Amino acid sequence: MHELHGIKVLVTSGPTKERIDPVRYLSNDSSGKQGHIIAEVLAKAGASVTLISGPVAIPDPEEITMIKVESAEEMLAACLNALPVDIAICAAAVSDFRPKAPFPQKFKKTEESTLILELVKNPDILHCLATHPQLRPKLVIGFAAETEQLLLNAQQKLARKGCDWIMANDVSSANGVFGGEENTVLRVTQHEAEAWPKMSKQKVAERLRDLIIAAL
Ligand code: C5P
Repeated sequence: MHELHGIKVLVTSGPTKERIDPVRYLSNDSSGKQGHIIAEVLAKAGASVTLISGPVAIPDPEEITMIKVESAEEMLAACLNALPVDIAICAAAVSDFRPKAPFPQKFKKTEESTLILELVKNPDILHCLATHPQLRPKLVIGFAAETEQLLLNAQQKLARKGCDWIMANDVSSANGVFGGEENTVLRVTQHEAEAWPKMSKQKVAERLRDLIIAAL
């Protein structure tokens, strides 16, 4: 199956790590499984895939260009560098904030019982790609991890980010999507909302691939 031959795809995956000091950081529980499987499935369908990933504990997919980054700022720079592409899929769980002024040396505790860490907002990579003035990919797909009001939040995210599709999933703890093998997705576009049954992350990637092929 080589329907995506000649198509360039950018996929972001995994968490980002935002340094507090040389040995401490802010991050999240994203395993990178969904993004990595999407990259692999699209590469097997013939696409030329660049996977830009934060730190994960899973193997690199085969037959893709792998770019490993730590922070959201590094991820954004790598994404912009990978343009132009036909399709961008942002599956990374990017940290919303980073420490404003990371300590250059290991932070030493003092007698104070509180520590105030000032955070600044990270760039929104999906939004930057979806609103790129010259090099917007033809199809921009985002993910949305939600714990409530899946459809409404996904529709609002679609509009706010300027992307074409949002793959929303419920990450409330009972569903265990982070790190798990399965995913329950609600795919939201400007015109439709489609609830997929619970399926493996592999099957989610394959269904997404088929929709991408149909859309191109
Ligand atoms: O706003 P929220 O984090 O819920 O949006 C999730 C979507 O936006 C995902 O596709 C994620 O990869 C992307 N995102 C991003 N850069 C950010 C925050 C989110 O690319 N700083």
